[in-house]
Amino acid sequence: MPETVVVGNWKMNTNLGQALELAAGIGNQLKNMTGVQVVLCPPFPFLSSVGGALRGSAVRLGAQNMHWEDSGAFTGEVAAQMLQGLCEYVILGHSERRQLFGETDELINRKIRAALSHGLRPILCVGETLDERESGKAKTVVAEQVRRGLADIVDITSLAVAYEPVWAIGSGLAATPEIAAEVMSEGILEVLRELYADAGSEVPLLYGGSVNPSNIGEFAAQTSIHGALVGGASLQVSQFVQIVNLALAAKSPPAS
Ligand code: PEP
Repeated sequence: MPETVVVGNWKMNTNLGQALELAAGIGNQLKNMTGVQVVLCPPFPFLSSVGGALRGSAVRLGAQNMHWEDSGAFTGEVAAQMLQGLCEYVILGHSERRQLFGETDELINRKIRAALSHGLRPILCVGETLDERESGKAKTVVAEQVRRGLADIVDITSLAVAYEPVWAIGSGLAATPEIAAEVMSEGILEVLRELYADAGSEVPLLYGGSVNPSNIGEFAAQTSIHGALVGGASLQVSQFVQIVNLALAAKSPPAS
């Protein structure tokens, strides 16, 4: 059974003071958390300070993106080797990167390879648009994003995959847990198993798209969902902490 993972993607939000307050609040409340990997992904300039605020807490740190090259004339970009030692995870292929910055599966694949070669844990994001869903292509689109994103990658032991339907991100319109579970098991898990046999079953699969404390329990109760990638609700300490606790409770119900 893959580990339970809950990731907070702060996107381009917070100033330094707010980032530190958020990290301290979440870090303190989840200080001794076990049974779930909690990851905060602040904007690049706050990674180091947020890392400091999380010191002594079980909460981990992640970046929201990175470049595939190690160094060079790439103004404004951040390389994997710059993140190494600073954070543990990196979100790659988020739909906002794909849609607003033209990132392709091929480019995301290069980033995943660079992240792995520097010991970072990639969180590969995949998901269909509303048009693709309405034309019945959701599973094939997602399966293709997984295949292309992981092309020529042999070792996936540190990978997580987040299924984030584009129409559900930031819209308040989450997928139903059944829809998410179907795409995740037939569009993602099947491909991972086909490509990596048993190792494919060990990859944590996260659902993302308007996750909140009211719906996380139902998502996490699905066998093929092992956690969540949370945007808006990760910017509030109480909401995010509730999501983590409820995800953990759904994944490890008390023995009767
Ligand atoms: C996200 O940014 O990955 C996301 C899922 O956002 P939200 O939770 O706000 O829909």
